[in-house]
Amino acid sequence: MSKPRIAVFDFACCEGCQLQIVNLEEEILDLLAGADVVEWREAMSEQSDEYDIAIIEGSITRPEDEARIKEIRSRAKVLIALGACATIGGINKLKNNFDLDEVKTCVYGADAGKPHLATAMTKAVDEVVTVDFKVEGCPIDRKEFTYIVRCLLLGKTPEIPVYPVCVECKANGNPCLWDQGEVCLGPIIKAGCGARCPSNSHRCFGCRGYVDNPNVNAAKDVIEKYNLDIDTLKLKMSLFGSQQEPTVS
Ligand code: SF4
Ligand code: SF4
Ligand code: SF4
Repeated sequence: MSKPRIAVFDFACCEGCQLQIVNLEEEILDLLAGADVVEWREAMSEQSDEYDIAIIEGSITRPEDEARIKEIRSRAKVLIALGACATIGGINKLKNNFDLDEVKTCVYGADAGKPHLATAMTKAVDEVVTVDFKVEGCPIDRKEFTYIVRCLLLGKTPEIPVYPVCVECKANGNPCLWDQGEVCLGPIIKAGCGARCPSNSHRCFGCRGYVDNPNVNAAKDVIEKYNLDIDTLKLKMSLFGSQQEPTVS
C-alpha cells in the first residue's frame, strides 16, 4: 500500500507554526516515516500537485490566495489548518477592525497601490474552503500536532478538547489570575494547550479561539464580581478574537 502524501503550504503568517514542526527534529522523522512529504517550501525544494493531506499555515488575505486555497482543497483528501492564522485568522484579522485603505497606506506607504499586496479582508481558511482538522494556537502545540497527524496516518479520528482552558488550568492546580486582577480568557477559550499561559502566570489571551457555546453570561458574572467592565473584556478579546463570535454586549 502506498504511503499517504503530505504537502505543507503557507499563506499570510510568520511561519512560526511550521518552525514548531521543524523543531520536532528527530521526532518528525519518526512521525513522517509513515508518509511521503511531497512539498514543504520551508524544508525542501521539491513541489507536487499530487497529495492526500494538505497542511495549511496562514490566513487568506488576497484574492489570489482564495483561488490558491480552493485549488489545494480540490486536490487534497484531508485538509488541516495549522495555527491561529489559519484556524481563526489570527493576529492578521486585527486589520479587519479598521478601514482597509488606511491599513494599506499605513503598512505599505507609497507602495499601497501595487498589486499582490495583502489587499483584502483577512479570512481564516474555513471561511473559504472546508477544513477537516484544526491544530489551534499561536504557535501550535508540537505534541498536539504530532498527535493529530499520527491519528490521521493510523486512520483514527483525533479527539480534540471541547472544554475551556480553565479545565486544564484547574487540573494543573494554578491559582486563578482573576484573583490577581488579570482578565484571563480561559473560561471561553478552547483547551488543548495544557493551560500554557496561566501555568506560567500569564493570562490566556485566546490564541486557540472560542469554545463552542461559550458561557459568556458566566464570564459577565465574573467581570461584575471583580468590578471590571465589559469593555475591558472586549479589549482583551480583540487580539485573537477580532470579527469572531461570540459577541459580548
Ligand atoms: S499562528 Fe502565530 S506562530 Fe503560527 S504562523 Fe500565525 S502568527 Fe505565526
Ligand atoms: S487563570 Fe484563567 S484559565 Fe486559569 S482558572 Fe483562572 S480564568 Fe481559568
Ligand atoms: S493559555 Fe490561552 S493564549 Fe495561552 S496557549 Fe493556551 S489558548 Fe493560547
